[in-house]
Amino acid sequence: MAELPIVYVDMDGVMAEFDKGLETKLLQADPTIDLSDKSSDFYLHKRLKTPEAVRMAQAIANSRGFFLDLEPADGLQEGWQRMIDAGFHPVVLSKPLSSNQWCAAEKLEWLDGIMGPKVADEAILADSKADFDGVALVDDRPETPNFDRATWQQVMFSRHYNLNVVTDFRIDNWRDPNLESVLARCAVRYASLFPEPLI
Ligand SMILES: [Mg+2]
Repeated sequence: MAELPIVYVDMDGVMAEFDKGLETKLLQADPTIDLSDKSSDFYLHKRLKTPEAVRMAQAIANSRGFFLDLEPADGLQEGWQRMIDAGFHPVVLSKPLSSNQWCAAEKLEWLDGIMGPKVADEAILADSKADFDGVALVDDRPETPNFDRATWQQVMFSRHYNLNVVTDFRIDNWRDPNLESVLARCAVRYASLFPEPLI
């Protein structure tokens, strides 16, 4: 039997509430901080208004425990199971924050606790997502680097900073009823671009 089609899943902003975690800790450090900018800039620190706030955000994101404390996205476990039930093999594919020395280890510990040991064991932490072959990548980043040389189709996971991206492949959240149909279209696209050899 052929292997199940792989769907890669990003962590920050898709599985884990990165911006919410950072905003919460920023407000704890300085309740007057301006977090009102909900523009299309992907990076939260670019939406902050003062150099002090930017420095604070970077220090928080680089701190021990930051990645371990992030909340899971609403409906994550149910969405993960729906992908499995629809015949896909979801695999975590995440780029650790290079400036945080604890990030990679904490991401794996987080996955083990939230998703279980199988998901953690299969997780791929890598700098270049385009190097990995699969039918889809669920990601919140408006322009995933090197997407043009990847085999997967990016499925945009809606966040305010990517709503301006025009795509036929988008889910609003993990409870989106279109999850299965969007992934099915990714599989059709993959099969048309990379047909299996006949022998
Ligand atoms: Mg992300």
